[in-house]
Amino acid sequence: MIIAIDGPAGSGKSTIAQQVAGRLGLTYLDTGAMYRAVTLLAYEQGVSFEDDDALGSIALDLKLHFEEDPAGPPRVFVEDRDVSEEIRSQLVTQKVSLVSAHPKVRHALTLRQRELAAEGDMVLEGRDTGTVVCPTAGLKVYLSASVEERARRRKNQLEEQGVCISLKTLERDLLLRDSYDSGRALAPLRKAKEALDLDTTTMSIEEVVAAIVSEAERRGQEDRERC
Ligand code: C5P
Repeated sequence: MIIAIDGPAGSGKSTIAQQVAGRLGLTYLDTGAMYRAVTLLAYEQGVSFEDDDALGSIALDLKLHFEEDPAGPPRVFVEDRDVSEEIRSQLVTQKVSLVSAHPKVRHALTLRQRELAAEGDMVLEGRDTGTVVCPTAGLKVYLSASVEERARRRKNQLEEQGVCISLKTLERDLLLRDSYDSGRALAPLRKAKEALDLDTTTMSIEEVVAAIVSEAERRGQEDRERC
């Protein structure tokens, strides 16, 4: 089964998608890491964040792969360079929504994501995985949470990495990124109408994972009975 999990920044998608994939024995695909890698390379190569052609070429040529890491989330490599930390820097985080709005970037990365999803069952997470990348996914999930809670989660994550940013600044950055991601013309962040809608503000990670896994199992059972 393909499970597509979408939602705004800080809604818990990555942690939850990884745990759902682990519980169901599926591959996990972080589509945001691809947009982040293009943003990092564009910055390093001095490419303008306005230049659709040049950004599209970077996306088309992107040699990105993931490697399992028993100590945490999969590591992200561009060719043989581990960019897992750099793609999560504040600089990339602040610019990635500009880059991801470009049609040529989206076109190249959406094709790549569909190729990967065609290889077998997986859990994808991002902004448009249920609406655009895999519209026929067996289960679509939309995760949300209040902006205050999302900022608090991001602050805890950053503090673990020794970075201190105020809650107000994080809330402002999240709202700005949400407005870019939902307001762009192409593949904006939207809840697919048939998606399981989970507001995770007061839910634990375990509760959210359990809700998704039980829905996936219920649908899998229904499919088997239909055969
Ligand atoms: O999920 P993450 O925060 O790593 O995503 C980074 C950015 O990549 C998002 O803010 C969005 O601009 C872009 N993105 C996207 N479509 C996806 C996944 C991510 O536009 N499917």
